[in-house]
Amino acid sequence: NPSVPAPHQVQDAIKEFIEKLEPKAYHSYTSAVGDNGTRTAVAENLNKRYGTKYDMNNIFMTCGAAASLNITFKALINAPDDEIIVVAPFFPEYKVFIEGQGGKMVLIQPDADLNIDMAVLEKAITKNTKAMIINSPNNPAGIIYPESNLKALAELLSKKEKEFGTSIYLITDEPYRELVYTDDKVVHMPTLYKNTIVCYSWSKSLSLPGERIGYILVPSEADDSKNVYAAIGGAARCLGYVCAPSLFQKVIEKCIDVEPDLTVYKKNRDILVEGLTAAGYRVANPAGAFYLFIETPEKDGDKFYERAKKYDLLVVPGAGFGSKEYVRLAYCVDTAKVEKAV
Ligand code: PLP
Repeated sequence: NPSVPAPHQVQDAIKEFIEKLEPKAYHSYTSAVGDNGTRTAVAENLNKRYGTKYDMNNIFMTCGAAASLNITFKALINAPDDEIIVVAPFFPEYKVFIEGQGGKMVLIQPDADLNIDMAVLEKAITKNTKAMIINSPNNPAGIIYPESNLKALAELLSKKEKEFGTSIYLITDEPYRELVYTDDKVVHMPTLYKNTIVCYSWSKSLSLPGERIGYILVPSEADDSKNVYAAIGGAARCLGYVCAPSLFQKVIEKCIDVEPDLTVYKKNRDILVEGLTAAGYRVANPAGAFYLFIETPEKDGDKFYERAKKYDLLVVPGAGFGSKEYVRLAYCVDTAKVEKAV
């Protein structure tokens, strides 16, 4: 859970709707794809930030990123041999989601800086590759993939599409897009690679994880865009994700330009990075999200986790994220706790 509460604009919007509107206006089903006003607000916000030309027909409102991802996997996976490439370290739910939607997860290891290793990726792509998923800023590592790495990724995926005569979709899982503490740029991947599908949620950026609100973006330039969008509608229906919460669709429309206050996360991150670096730990470039990934001295996250527990330090072993030498720290907690932990 984010430790920073939702911005006051969110509560103000909720109060305003409840006081001024009839309950029917915020408790009813919206259309399956989402309210037109909300989808238009999302499209315009993206256009303003990334110079794109989206409209509401590119946006499908969802019950958070987990729904966005499950729906997208279900829409793209047609057969048990269909493969989705995942790069370590990764959010462990991807395996559950991909296999749950009937596909095969193909896990690849990153380079020494935890960026995408093109030589490794090239070998992993086959004629059965339906999609690849990336998450930047990353859970668990807090890293942001550099633009040069992502340009190389776009080139490689395009090359492989030509070689196999297939479409390889790039799913970008972006719940941490707004949580950035450095000058690192979070690239809007559709501007580099047309077959990108963006899965977003406001769980972290507006601290609303329990409200289940997010979207899927299918750019018009993507191969088979209209069919993919229709398949997303069918998948959402079949999975039972019918209608993203109506009240929160209204809240999002009203709060679309509200930005998170990163002061506390940044402070926590700085304290941890400084303390850990001084103690000799190698910390992966901690640019975003609210996690740090540290290489353990014994090169074994499980052993380190047991050792840390003796000091009342709760860390998550890296094995579940595909990187067994590491552990993850989360700094979405009180600053006093972070100071004590160091
Ligand atoms: N993707 C990543 C990388 C996450 O870390 C999380 C939640 O922690 C999710 C997706 C799921 O987010 P949501 O709460 O919006 O379903």
